[in-house]
Amino acid sequence: IQWFPGHMTKARRMMEDQLRLVDVVVELLDARIPDSSINPMLRQMAGNKPRVIALNKMDMADPVKTEAWLQKLKQKSVPVCSIDCHTGKGVKQMISLVKEAARPVTEKWLKKGVKNRDVRLMIVGVPNVGKSTLINRLAGQVKAIASDRPGVTKQKQWVTIAKGLQLLDTPGVLWPKFEDPETGLHLALTGAVKDDIYDRRDALVLLLQEMLEKYPQQLAMFYHITLDPVDTAETVMEKIGAARGCVKAGGVLDLNKVEQMVLYEFKTAKMGRFTLDEPK
Ligand code: GDP
Repeated sequence: IQWFPGHMTKARRMMEDQLRLVDVVVELLDARIPDSSINPMLRQMAGNKPRVIALNKMDMADPVKTEAWLQKLKQKSVPVCSIDCHTGKGVKQMISLVKEAARPVTEKWLKKGVKNRDVRLMIVGVPNVGKSTLINRLAGQVKAIASDRPGVTKQKQWVTIAKGLQLLDTPGVLWPKFEDPETGLHLALTGAVKDDIYDRRDALVLLLQEMLEKYPQQLAMFYHITLDPVDTAETVMEKIGAARGCVKAGGVLDLNKVEQMVLYEFKTAKMGRFTLDEPK
């Protein structure tokens, strides 16, 4: 996996410019990988700005683990909630957390005699974590006006989403962290990084290893296979291929097909609701 420092410098500068405009930051994490979807530099960039964490796509994550993650983060005194942007579940709670997090800021304003100032917030997160979906949900009908003139960048817009609360309609895009191969593959498995910068077979092997370790029954049931204690990612791949009839001409197992199928079924939660990062 490669990264280009030039890109990163630019992304960082853009993020810092955006952060200057707001009072509160909502950091969206993927509930399936709350650790891997963190960008450790956000804290540095946001300084002391109040932050709320929302574990998104809760509908795709293991509910027991999501609860454990919420408890863990609450113990660290981080305001945190879990949400589902498709149904809107948890979004109200998220807004109350934002208001609560903003209280020190509004109190400071009051002391200075500043009245009627709205709290401004923005949504940040790694690609594909659901930022635009959340912004659209919060903004509702109040669609921002995009310029249709070529070469004219859309102006940033503020949308009032609750009394005294304005949302920046442009999400803050954070770059994914590539600290170790496992983190990168978790990001790939959930769709935060593109297919072409990771090895799909590596991703599948890691996924099956983790499924064998954490969710063996669900894996066996979904693919109608029987698992043995000696099974490895490789033998499971073969079992899945056989069960699903992934064969090439001459009856040879088509591992590319298995790869494509299993990765898709995991990413889209057809396989079930699983969390890969452990709330250790
Ligand atoms: P962005 O790159 O962070 O702006 O992500 P998008 O808002 O474009 O969302 C990426 C994908 O995730 C889209 O296919 C969304 O429909 C999907 N998505 C967003 N939020 C949720 C959610 O809470 N649950 C599920 N299941 N899918 C979601």
